[in-house]
Amino acid sequence: MREPVAGVGRRLIHINTSDRGGGVAEILDNVTRHDEFRGHPTGWMVIDASDEFFAVTKGLHHLFHGREDPSLLEDGAKEYRDVLEDVSVLIESEIRQDDILVLHDPQTLGLASWAAQRGNPVYWHCHIGTLRSSVEVREALWNFFAHDLRAVDAVLVTEPGFLQGAQISRVLVVHPAIDPDAPKNVRIDAADVAAHLETIGTNSMTGAVGTAGRVWQDAPVPDHAPVVLQVSRWDPLKGIRDVLRVVEHLDPRVHVVVAGPDPAEVLDDPEGVDQLDEALQQLHELPAPIRSRVHLIALSAQDRDLNALHVNALQRRADVVVQRSVEEGFGLTITEAMFKGKPVVATRTGGIPRQIKDRVNGLLVEPGDDEAFIVAVNELVADEGLRAELGAAAESSVRRGYLIDRLVRNYDMLRK
Ligand code: UDP
Repeated sequence: MREPVAGVGRRLIHINTSDRGGGVAEILDNVTRHDEFRGHPTGWMVIDASDEFFAVTKGLHHLFHGREDPSLLEDGAKEYRDVLEDVSVLIESEIRQDDILVLHDPQTLGLASWAAQRGNPVYWHCHIGTLRSSVEVREALWNFFAHDLRAVDAVLVTEPGFLQGAQISRVLVVHPAIDPDAPKNVRIDAADVAAHLETIGTNSMTGAVGTAGRVWQDAPVPDHAPVVLQVSRWDPLKGIRDVLRVVEHLDPRVHVVVAGPDPAEVLDDPEGVDQLDEALQQLHELPAPIRSRVHLIALSAQDRDLNALHVNALQRRADVVVQRSVEEGFGLTITEAMFKGKPVVATRTGGIPRQIKDRVNGLLVEPGDDEAFIVAVNELVADEGLRAELGAAAESSVRRGYLIDRLVRNYDMLRK
């Protein structure tokens, strides 16, 4: 556990299943650092579990996005409940009677009844979901979690529509946020950007394993080439396949960079390794001239701050940032790019339209619509003025609504 500082007020303990590689880890890292600085007692506990448990919770993740067969709930129920019972025994002595617990995502929601029985206030923060799932999937999910949801004091959610059909007494809408001063977002100059890209290897090497991670490319990214970037976990819902499929139709000067966390390090996402392999396969099947303009990167997060600086540098180097998610809870990678004044082309799905208003501070296209995506990216690549206009609007909308101070205040409300 990242121990809460001794400070004023009750301890707030966040519980999730990964300390790196995804949006929840990003948020909790920033919130706990911020609260430490402010002297507010906030802890972060990352629970460790079996591969079988994470296979079940990855299935839940897909179900929350309206995919997969609900029968996996029956098959996985015993593993899910048994592991969380073991976890509750393990962490029992670390949780104080007056601690306030915040459980993140479905992986930890099953701890709610245990927490409530101990008398702790307990909240569930739901970061994922879809506005499009079938009644059958929704009913199966909410039945599976019915007694957990009865145990929580309230549910915090990015997009209230994600909870459609659930029996919940209190819902608080809480949007994610980024820390402008953290290594992920802090301003770095062009020389530092170039130095980080040198370390990653995109500018110099032809496929390498370095301290920053692993890079697959036939040739380096030329200094002045327009770069189109997607940063995401290696997950079928992120639309990486969709990005790679259309490279040959993008402006021929464009280099496409797809970067994600090294899946071997993201233990609660067992699909990552196969998904990266699929992306590599797709890369290798591209005709050589197209392939030479594609760069895949698996970034190591062994050193968290360095990893964040590498993502920062990639985002700052990009001319256009894309997020072709099939489903997306919110998309912090979008917020990060917008904050850096980048024009973003993203899909109209899940929480993304909360951040992007089409042609105001970015461009929206329908998930899976290749033609619209190609037109949008090519338009931005060709039009520097439009890039600057949308990028400036993007930055100011993040400054208005999605900075960390607001999120820590949202969590502070739970202490009252
Ligand atoms: N990220 C990171 N290191 C990496 C790749 C991604 O820290 O090597 C971060 C990224 O900057 C963002 C988060 O992982 O903060 C992904 O959050 P998002 O909400 O976009 O997607 P999620 O993975 O939670 O579905």
